[in-house]
Amino acid sequence: MDVLVKAMAQDEPILVVALIDTETVEKARAMHDTFPTATAALGRTMSAALLLSSLLKEGQKVIVQVAGDGPLQGVVAEADWQCRVRSYIKRPHIHLGLKDGKLDVGRAIGKGFFNVIKDLGLRDYYKGSVPLQTGEIATDLAYYLNQSEQIPAAVSLGVYVETDNAAKASGGFMIHSLPGSSEEIIDYLENRLPGVRQVSAMIREGLGPEQIIHEALGLPFKILEEREVQYYCHCTRGRVLDAIASIGKNDIEELIHKGETVQVQCEFCKAEYSVAQGELAALVNDSAAVSAKK
Ligand SMILES: [Zn+2]
Repeated sequence: MDVLVKAMAQDEPILVVALIDTETVEKARAMHDTFPTATAALGRTMSAALLLSSLLKEGQKVIVQVAGDGPLQGVVAEADWQCRVRSYIKRPHIHLGLKDGKLDVGRAIGKGFFNVIKDLGLRDYYKGSVPLQTGEIATDLAYYLNQSEQIPAAVSLGVYVETDNAAKASGGFMIHSLPGSSEEIIDYLENRLPGVRQVSAMIREGLGPEQIIHEALGLPFKILEEREVQYYCHCTRGRVLDAIASIGKNDIEELIHKGETVQVQCEFCKAEYSVAQGELAALVNDSAAVSAKK
């Protein structure tokens, strides 16, 4: 089972979030048919959204958009407060050579922006954007938290892709100091974290979230919360019809004129929706009814 665990250092105001999302990322890999470098970018972006979702309140969700000028172009992941995540990648068939033995996500993403949109409920949105630092996503998320949310944070993300192309280990951790953290503890973490090994290596070895927190933090801690992580898309037939309705009466009439059933595919979960002529005609009538009311 994929899981996200939130913990607090025993004697210091330091929050730690550990995530294992191997099964969820593998599901996305199979769904989007990604090649290894694309799989790593997709998985890390999903993990980034999930780590950020740990800071949300009930009913809220967060979208992470990594937009670069590299061959991948763009990766999007959305996670809600219940750790339900879905993702989309523009160009899934990207694989570049390894760099220092690792998948070269930075080069595949390129230069661009790390964008975060939070749906806070009641039509209240928060938007933050920072220039990509490395395109490796973990450093970009840490930079975003520091710059946009004034949260001093360290982030580690990793996806291990097996030779058969399957994602065999994926996850990450995020450590951030809350107000009141001492200088000593911040120095301690700054010295410690560069020596902490790759999180994907820990997951491959079978470490659980508590062991990851132990290895990353090196201090006594208490668990605050544990949540199950899963891939979930909230697309529905109703939302698909709404999307078609939004293209306008003239364009819908043109679709009717062509006389074919319209096929729509959800880009997040690949669900196929076929919309029959009768439904299109109903949309035109509905929009006429709405116009008449105005
Ligand atoms: Zn969907």
